[in-house]
Amino acid sequence: MDADVIIIGAGIGGLATAALLANAGCSVIVVEKSKRIGGRAACFEKDGFVLDNGIHLSRFALKGKCAEVLREIGITPKFSKFKKILVFQNGKLFPFPKGPISYFRSPFISKNTKIQSLRYLFSVWFKKPSDYENKSVLEALSGYELEENFLDLTRIFLSSSIACPYIEKASIEEVRRFFLHGMKSPFFPVGYLKGGWKKALVLLQSKVLENGKILLGVKVKRLVIENETVKFVETTKGSFSAKCYVSSIPAQDLKSIIELNKLSPEIKNYSKIVEKSCGFSIYMGLSKKFLSLPSSVISKNTHSINGTMILSANPPSMGTIISTIEKRVAPKGKNLLVWFSFVPLEKINDKSFINNQINEVKLVIDNSLRLCFNNQKFNISEFCEWEKVIIHKMVDGAIPKVGQGIKERLDFKCNIKNLFFAGDTTRGDGWGGDIAFDSALKCSKLVKAMLRKGK
Ligand SMILES: Cc1cc2nc3c(=O)[nH]c(=O)nc-3n(C[C@H](O)[C@H](O)[C@H](O)COP(=O)(O)OP(=O)(O)OC[C@H]3O[C@@H](n4cnc5c(N)ncnc54)[C@H](O)[C@@H]3O)c2cc1C
Repeated sequence: MDADVIIIGAGIGGLATAALLANAGCSVIVVEKSKRIGGRAACFEKDGFVLDNGIHLSRFALKGKCAEVLREIGITPKFSKFKKILVFQNGKLFPFPKGPISYFRSPFISKNTKIQSLRYLFSVWFKKPSDYENKSVLEALSGYELEENFLDLTRIFLSSSIACPYIEKASIEEVRRFFLHGMKSPFFPVGYLKGGWKKALVLLQSKVLENGKILLGVKVKRLVIENETVKFVETTKGSFSAKCYVSSIPAQDLKSIIELNKLSPEIKNYSKIVEKSCGFSIYMGLSKKFLSLPSSVISKNTHSINGTMILSANPPSMGTIISTIEKRVAPKGKNLLVWFSFVPLEKINDKSFINNQINEVKLVIDNSLRLCFNNQKFNISEFCEWEKVIIHKMVDGAIPKVGQGIKERLDFKCNIKNLFFAGDTTRGDGWGGDIAFDSALKCSKLVKAMLRKGK
């Protein structure tokens, strides 16, 4: 045996599972096909700037799943908070309603819609879960007269909470679960890890290295299975064996390492149909003179860009000058702008659609920042030293649509006795990266129990 556990994939799910197991005294080998750790949450360096994939935020900060994993391995995490969250709509900026009081005061939505949405909330209160469980947000809202602004606000809420801007797809049950989680952390709904996202990866990596190794640039070609048990893994650098195996690659990729017929029909079917989300990120390295521009000080009608997140519905995007939240992501005096936008799955290979959407997002950037700078003639390109666009063919492995909620995702164990699953297409709790972190907590417990049994 080369180790107690072999983990396939060094994304959040794999690294966190390996770190938790190493922390519990199990020897681990992580096999990662790419040359860097992090998977979809990897970080890149450019001219002294540290770029995340999009804007990598932690839902519920200290009460969230990333914090739970870090605490479990003995680290006390700290998060930075956004000072303001604004909505850019029809050429104006509005504060994003933080709760019921600011919602009912918001000038963004008409009085009639506020009454309608209150009626809706009351009606939900008296419903049984079976009345709404299998409905999309749009289906759940049918029968109410709701204006376009309300629907746009709902789209914005959905993309920034459960990471699905499509009201015709997003599951109302997932929204209900988000509200329940949100009640545990109402004043700090989202945070950015102090030290940057890179820090989480480095902390997990160093914990793994205390009791194991990470093989980078090594691809798992096949899991060799006999009598419903994994015997060894064949990789591009030879074969390795262990008592247990964890696959932490997205369910859609399982076919590249396992003969699907060896898995149960449910897993086989899920891996074929699970729907991911897609998008792109725009990064701009901003020159020193950018934040010397006067902003909110000029008039009380303007908004400071410092520590501010801007959200839009058309196109679905969110952006910030992330270096005003965490200084360490940009060289001294400079600033880093990041804007992320969702793209429908069926359009992710359509170059002209994507180019159009990139131009629309750039207009949102220019126009919303202009409002932050008191409408003065403003053009972001004057401050931009470099620009980079990354297309993400997979953002979240399982979009939280009807039929892809927590109960319908991949279980952590399966019909193969010593094979377990982690990552964001499993039944981990939360959305996006939280699922991967939570899957690590749950999967590592099952693996530990199996190793104890075998002793
Ligand atoms: C632009 C963007 C923005 C995001 N923003 C947020 C956010 O703000 N908050 C949030 O919570 N989540 C966010 N997410 C989602 C989050 O990044 C993912 O949910 C999470 O990283 C998934 O981790 P994972 O370990 O499940 O999978 P992955 O990151 O996909 O890891 C799987 C790993 O397995 C490796 N692998 C695959 N096949 C093999 C093989 N055969 N052999 C060896 N290795 C293999 C891959 O190279 C990869 O490194 C974002 C994602 C993107 C792309």
